[in-house]
Order: sequence, then C-alpha cells, then structure tokens
Amino acid sequence: RSRNGHEPEFLQAVQEVAETVIPYIASQEIYNGKNILLRMVEPERAITFRVPWVDDDGEIHVNRGYRIQMNSAIGPYKGGLRFHPTVDMSILKFLAFEQTFKNSLTTLPMGGGKGGADFDPKGKSDDEIMRFCHSFMSELFRHIGPNTDIPAGDIGVGGREIGFLFGMYRKLRNEFTGVLTGKGLTWGGSLIRPEATGYGTVYFAENMMKTKNDSFDGKTVVISGSGNVAQFAAEKALHLGAKVVTLSDSSGYILDEDGIDEEKLEFVMTLKNEKRGRISEYIDTYSNAKFFEGETPWEVPCDIALPCATQNELNGEDAQKLLENGCICVSEGANMPSMPEAIAEFHKAKILFAPGKASNAGGVATSGLEMSQNSLRMSWSSEEVDNKLKDIMNDIHEKCLEYGDDGNGFTDYVKGANIAGFVKVADAMLAQGVV
Ligand code: NDP
Repeated sequence: RSRNGHEPEFLQAVQEVAETVIPYIASQEIYNGKNILLRMVEPERAITFRVPWVDDDGEIHVNRGYRIQMNSAIGPYKGGLRFHPTVDMSILKFLAFEQTFKNSLTTLPMGGGKGGADFDPKGKSDDEIMRFCHSFMSELFRHIGPNTDIPAGDIGVGGREIGFLFGMYRKLRNEFTGVLTGKGLTWGGSLIRPEATGYGTVYFAENMMKTKNDSFDGKTVVISGSGNVAQFAAEKALHLGAKVVTLSDSSGYILDEDGIDEEKLEFVMTLKNEKRGRISEYIDTYSNAKFFEGETPWEVPCDIALPCATQNELNGEDAQKLLENGCICVSEGANMPSMPEAIAEFHKAKILFAPGKASNAGGVATSGLEMSQNSLRMSWSSEEVDNKLKDIMNDIHEKCLEYGDDGNGFTDYVKGANIAGFVKVADAMLAQGVV
C-alpha cells in the first residue's frame, strides 16, 4: 500500500482479490511463505513514453503513452489499449492486474498486460487519429511482438485505431504477424471478435440464470454504455428474447420503454461507430424515448443489469435501487464497474452477480482464438468461433461454481473467479522459481 498509495483504482482491484485469495493461500500449504500475491502486484515492467503528434491546424501536442507488462508466467502479455483522458498508471495497473486473472480463467496461454494513452479521441478527425496512432506505435513497437506482448482494443480503441497501429508496426518491423488482435477481417482478424465481449457477457449471465432454472426470455434488461461491449451485449440479449430498455454514454442515458429492437440497435451502431455521435441523438429519431442527462440507468426497473461502460459507474445506492426494483442478475461487461459497496449489496441480497474478470473474458478469449488462427494461417467460420466462445464462457462459469460455492446454495462468483484465476498463475510462478 505504501508503494502504491497514490493509485486508488489499483488498490481497489488488489484489495478485492486479496480479500478472497489470502484466506485461500493460508489454507493451501504449497503457497505458504512464497509471497506469491506480493510478487503478482508488482508489474514485471511498466513503460511510459512521449507521444507527440500534429493536429489538423498544425499545432503540436504531446500525450503520455503507457504499456504495463504485468505477468507473463502463463503466456505472453495480452491486454487492450485504452485512449481516454483519464488514463494514468493507477487505471492501467488495475486493468493489467485484473487482466492477469481473466486471461488465466480463459484456459488459453496468455499473460496479463494493458496500455494506452491519456489522449481524448472525441472530436478528432480521422487524420488526427491516424497521426496519433502512428506516433504511439513508433515507440510501442520496440516493446511488443507476437510472442512477447499482443495488445488489443479497449475504450477509445476500436477497429479504426487497430488498423492504424498495425500499419505502423508492419512498416517498422517489415513483417506481417499477429501482433495485435481486433484486426480487420481481410488482414488477419477473426470473425466474432467485435461481438465477443458483449456476447460473452450475456452467455455468462445466461449460465447464471440457468442455475435458477431461468433464462433471458421475456426479461427486461438495462445496459450502460453504447460502445463496442454495450452494443453486442444488447444484440445478444435481444436474440435471447429479452427487452433492452436503456443505453448510455458519458453524457447520460436513454430510456426506450418500447424496447431497443434490432432496427433501433442498428441505428445506434451507425450513430456511434460511423457518425461518432452522442447517445442523446437517439431521441431525435425515436421520439417515444427519453434522455436523462448526467444520469446512469440503474434507477430503471429491470430483471437483469449489464454495466458495459467503465470502472466505478455503479455505486452502493445504485445497487440498492436495482435491488428495490427487482433486479435478479448483474453481469459486468466493463472492467470493475461496480464499486465495492455495490458488490456488498448484491452479495447481501444473494442475487446473481458476475465480476468482469469472469463475465467479460469472452473478448480476450476470442483474441486468443484470433492469435491461434494467425499462427495457423487459417480463418474459422463465425459458427466455429462462436461455439468456442460459448464453450469458454461455460468453462469459466463452471470454475466459478467450483471455487465460489458457499455450500448453502449461493455462489460467490467474485471469490470463484479470483481463486480459479489465481491458482493457474500461482502454480506457474511456483514452478518457474523466483524470477
Ligand atoms: P468503447 O470506447 O467502445 O465504449 C465505451 C462506452 O463507455 C461509451 O459509451 C462511453 O461513452 C462510455 N464511457 C467511457 N468512459 C465513461 C465514463 N467515464 N463515464 C461514463 N461513460 C463512459 O469501449 P468498450 O465498449 O470496448 O469498453 C467498455 C468497457 O468494457 C471498458 O470497461 C473496457 O475495459 C471493458 N472491456 C472491453 C473489452 C473489449 O473487447 N472491447 C474486453 C473486456 C472489457 P463516451 O462515448 O461518452 O465516452
């Protein structure tokens, strides 16, 4: 704590893991006296670098770029890049720490990493984004590689940005390798990768609902965010017969009590991905819907809540409102969206609650499948990838049940995910000695 006292999000993520993993370590003789968790919380390497770029008016800007290489005991570092003004060491270390556990849970051989920059893509032209991405990669390329560290997208980094980043990497290294995931389909990308995080979040929730002999069919679903994860979580929830009534962005949320159907979702995808507009513009086209400026959607009655925007977006009061309104299942599409007080409320009420490191692991798992296809120089069909994604989400759910069952019919998915994720990495670290 003294070394990382100025990093609140990182401390929050570590504390949540420590609370469940330390009692487990104490109960397992092989881990005693090995200081495994102490070793896990220190990144193997943390790189920061200057990212200078020129805007369309010729003005020069400088941002700070980062890559946190957290843990490579079970495979090369793997984790997304985030471009957002709030990016700093604390945010990226929390994400890289969570990623280590998440990647372990996927059953694929991937270590944990995360990176990005305090750059705000909002309002920038395509040319400005390209110049920024090229400058960013002109330093990052030294530190990554298909067997070393394989970045992907996250907030503010989608298909467009991965394209610009990949182009510069390929030029500088003069090689075409699977060094990034989330690539376009014609240059090494995988079918279902864009859908994977959102779909996986819903597959995980579906598994949780099955433990109560229940399903998504006919349920009302509240979703936050309107980016990559939110869009495809909404799509899969619709496919399973649910009614999705909200989406949001950092300015507020829209409520459509008639339900956001396939056509309306298509409108949102064009609005956000192509026009790069705001979610409030939804009500200009669908006048029955309402926009709530500066609010989050947790006050809306629902059966299932899917937080898919950002960290700490759902506090203790929000959790109480969800519970009062009858919510029975929360599956996190974002990373650490529920604050510790909110998780405590969900656990007290014994509803189904899945932490992001389990429920949103479908994204990185499918990135792992993209890496396999790149190495094999093959492309699998949508159906093949989707089936593998479903199998992986089922496996993660099973592991959470194994380690999180309290013996009285309640599953603590936080405990289950933390311990299951820990065991594989810890065993690899033990086998490899103190390095
Ligand atoms: P996008 O950039 O596509 O979308 C992010 C969404 O969240 C936007 O609607 C954005 O609104 C909103 N948002 C971002 N920051 C804030 C904020 N501070 N307050 C309120 N809303 C905010 O990102 P993704 O959909 O890819 O990522 C969403 C979450 O899912 C993140 O936590 C990410 O780490 C996690 N995740 C993503 C994976 C992936 O495969 N993409 C994999 C696993 C987890 P606005 O446009 O106004 O900023």
